[in-house]
Formats: sequence, C-alpha cells, structure tokens
Amino acid sequence: MFDMAEVANLSNQQQLHRLLRQLKQSSDLFLGYPVAKDFDYSELYAFLDYPINNLGDPYEDSTYKVQTHDMEREVIDTFAKLFRANPKDYWGYITNGGSESNLYGLYIARELYPKAMVYSSESTHYSVKKNIHLLNIPSIVIRSQENGEIDYEDLESMLRFNRHKPAIILTTFGTTMKEAKDDVARVKGILKKLAIQDHYIHCDAALSGSFGAFIEPHIPFDFQDGADSISISGHKFIGSPIPSGVIVTKRSLRDRIAKGVSYIGTLDTTISGSRNGHSALFLWYAIKKMGLEGLKKRYLHSLEVAQYCKNELLKLGIPAWTNEGAITVVFPKVSENIKEKWQLATEEEVTHVICMPNVTRKQIDEFVSDLAYEMEAAENDPRGCK
Ligand SMILES: *Cc1c(COP(=O)(O)O)cnc(C)c1O
Repeated sequence: MFDMAEVANLSNQQQLHRLLRQLKQSSDLFLGYPVAKDFDYSELYAFLDYPINNLGDPYEDSTYKVQTHDMEREVIDTFAKLFRANPKDYWGYITNGGSESNLYGLYIARELYPKAMVYSSESTHYSVKKNIHLLNIPSIVIRSQENGEIDYEDLESMLRFNRHKPAIILTTFGTTMKEAKDDVARVKGILKKLAIQDHYIHCDAALSGSFGAFIEPHIPFDFQDGADSISISGHKFIGSPIPSGVIVTKRSLRDRIAKGVSYIGTLDTTISGSRNGHSALFLWYAIKKMGLEGLKKRYLHSLEVAQYCKNELLKLGIPAWTNEGAITVVFPKVSENIKEKWQLATEEEVTHVICMPNVTRKQIDEFVSDLAYEMEAAENDPRGCK
C-alpha cells in the first residue's frame, strides 16, 4: 500500500517505478482470479499512437475510419464458429467485459419479450443481478445444487408456476466460485416440456466459453444446444492488458433493436458509443497467434495443472474437488495469511485456485508447500489453535 506522506516526496519517475514493481509482485503470486497473464502484445506497440475507436456496429460501414472493425468481425466469426452458431444468422461485438455482454444479452431478451420473467440461479455472477435491476425486469432466483449448477427441479417448478409468462433464462457456463456449468440443453428441454414457447436463453460463459468447445464429453452451452446469446470475457482465458468481452447473438435478434444514427453514419446497435478498438486488435492478435489448436492446448494444459493441484491437496488431506472439465479447484477456505498472499477469492466456507494457462506445477507446489507448512505448525502448536 502507498504511504501518502512518502509518496509525496517521490518524483513521478520514482512513482512509476514503484508502481511497476508492485504490479509485478502482485502478478507473480496470483492463483485466485480467472485472468491469464501469459500474453505478449509488444508487436502491437505502434498501434498505441492512434485514437482507435470502434464506435458503431462492426458489421456496418461508418464515417469514422480510425477503427479495427475488420479484426473485430474476425474475432466474432471465430467465437461464432466455436459456439456453433448458424453461419447465416449470427452477429456480435466486442464489449468492455463480460458484464456488458450479459447486459446486452438481457437487453435483447427484454426487447423481444417485454413481459418476461428472468430466471437465474443463486450462483449467477453479480453483474447479472445488477443488469436485471438496470433493465427493470421481474426476476426469480433459482436454487443452486451443491456443485454450483442450477437446480433443474427448482427451475422447472418455478417455470411451471409462471408458465403463462415468457421466460428469459440466464444460464452460467462456469460459475465464478466453483466453475459449475448449467446444461443449456436440459433447460431447453424443460421449456419444451412445459410448452413455454416464448423464451430466450442467455448463456454467461465469461471464463469457460473460450474453451467450452474443447471440453470432452461436450457440456451443452452453445447455439446448437439452445442458447440465443453467449457472452465471454476477453481478458480471462485469452488474456489482455485491457479488460474486454465478446457477445455473440443471432443477427435476426439484433435487427429488431437496430436504430440508424446519422452523426456516426452507422447503426447504433451497441451499448457503449465509443468502443475500445485496441481490445479488438489484441483479441484478434491473440487468436491468430495461438490458432484454435493453440487455444485447445491452453485448455488441456490448464486442465492438467488443475488435476495436479487437486491431487496434491488431497495428499495433504484437504478435500479438494473440481467440476467436470473445470480448471478451478475448490476446497475449504484457508487462513487469512495464505488467502492474502495468493489472492484467493473466498465465499462463505470455500475458496478456489483457478489454473489459468500461465499457472505452472511449480507455482502449485509452492502454494501447496505453504499450506503444508501451516498445517504442520498448527499441529505442533501446544494450544492446538490455527
Ligand atoms: C468474470 C465474470 C463475469 C463478468 O465479466 P467481466 O469481464 O469482469 O465484466 C460474468 N460472469 C461470470 C460467470 C464471470 O466469471
């Protein structure tokens, strides 16, 4: 932390050096948040000289030419393919993050069904609750199962109770704490069984959407499984120095909310006016560089490290577990010291390590040895307290 009096005596140069050191230090011990750090965008340095702004619809021509719409569309194309969208009916844009992507999904859903009710589980990300509030849509919270997945029986009974109303279902593909994945096909099946024809499914896939296509066996989450829109965060699994997100939906749905704006000479189909064009460039660069094979390898590496982490914790007698195909290892919460040192997000009684692509076995070893050391110290403490 900064000591204000001390900072006042530092030159700007010194402050920058100090900040850089602190960022590096905090970044090295970082296991609790889903942010990849193994990126290198130095080749794109020259692009920082330009006021790139992707305002307007990436699929429409605009009067503002200092933009990266071409790259933006290529990124959307890639995710549309990974999400098995209908090649003739998809659309999307790069947002400021998963939260904005969720807002967009819910916004389209509400425009389509103004009288709908939103159903989302207890484990839903906090951005969803806020977005539902912003959009002023009536909502119902559905119970979660122990593993963090939506309770399908509770969902079914709530839907049955409100079956005269259109339904917007917010599913999560990779919940924030336990990386649980709601089964979109199963949700679709429930809607069908109850004959609720007016429905919309938005899949919040902030973390796991980037590797969902590589999970075996397949866990239903994409367009063919029944989703109407899917959101991800660009700075999570792919990695970027600037937060970003992607929303992919159906073009036919977007067309219903598109309005022309003569000032920018394009369609106003996005939430923000000015939009980050560097993010589009960064995501494009990352995807081109790694390719789909590389993306898959990243996932398999993470999965392997997660299994390793789980097994090492089990060896210590810590009841660690993972959801199917997840790169997040869940276990009982740890001491304040360890939580602070490794920046572990903690909720109620559980905490987690997220094995992002940059996390190595060596880091897991260091973390596990911190835990082992503490457990040993507690055992040798005659007062028996931790
Ligand atoms: C991180 C996350 C979000 C929000 O994404 P931001 O990019 O931080 O806005 C939404 N949903 C889930 C499940 C997340 O893990």
